[in-house]
Amino acid sequence: MDFRFHILGSSSAGNSALLVTPHSRVLIDAGFSARRLKQSLAAVGERIEDLDAVFITHEHSDHITGLAGLARLDKPCFFANEETARAAQTCAKTALRWKIFDTGSTFQFQDLTVCNFSIPHDAADPVGYTFSFGEDNLLSPRRKLAWVTDLGYVPQLIREKIRDVDFLVLEANYDADLLARSARPMSLKQRIRGRHGHLSNDLALELLMTLESDRLQQVFLAHLSRECNSPDLVDAALCTARALRPHCRFTVIHPASPSPVSLAPR
Ligand SMILES: [Zn+2]
Ligand SMILES: [Zn+2]
Repeated sequence: MDFRFHILGSSSAGNSALLVTPHSRVLIDAGFSARRLKQSLAAVGERIEDLDAVFITHEHSDHITGLAGLARLDKPCFFANEETARAAQTCAKTALRWKIFDTGSTFQFQDLTVCNFSIPHDAADPVGYTFSFGEDNLLSPRRKLAWVTDLGYVPQLIREKIRDVDFLVLEANYDADLLARSARPMSLKQRIRGRHGHLSNDLALELLMTLESDRLQQVFLAHLSRECNSPDLVDAALCTARALRPHCRFTVIHPASPSPVSLAPR
């Protein structure tokens, strides 16, 4: 296979994924301790020492907990925009080798074309990413993967950025009824369901039903809340999306899953 993609874990308690292409080994977010990341990487046959880079979406702890431990490694550099890097640096308390990009820019890292775009979320300057790679031939077809979590709603800009992706990691954070009935304080409920909070199952489904894309091969529903969602509820909500896109595989990431979930291209 010309590439591999493994979600090492995703929930409100931590998020990280590994993308391996012929010339790159990169993490998207590092929301677990370096010790746990090392174990998860070993489970997919990789060494933490071989990471080339870490791409950070925003500075919330479920996305950057592992930065301090990763900073002790010789190799990886850390990609973020300026505001996120500043906020994450304060949390990491260790000097990091930052590679600062402009929000909304597209740039090259080794064999990856990386595009970042603003997402509506209550952090300093949060972004989503697309990663494009491959050479558009039979041996190494062109592929594009998007990482879109931690957003209160889906603006038109994001629809345009992910229109031509083959693989999509999309947040399905909460079930509206479970959140309403939960014991959480009203202020927290309002934050989660606000325009800069998290994406509900309903809004994730709405995107999957209306996204103009004929390339989608696999969608991962990720960043599930442990208290206000369940894999079964997300799975049930996907029923109509499955009927609309019979050739697309839908995978719900269990928030308590101890082992990585891997992409299986056709
Ligand atoms: Zn967040
Ligand atoms: Zn998060």
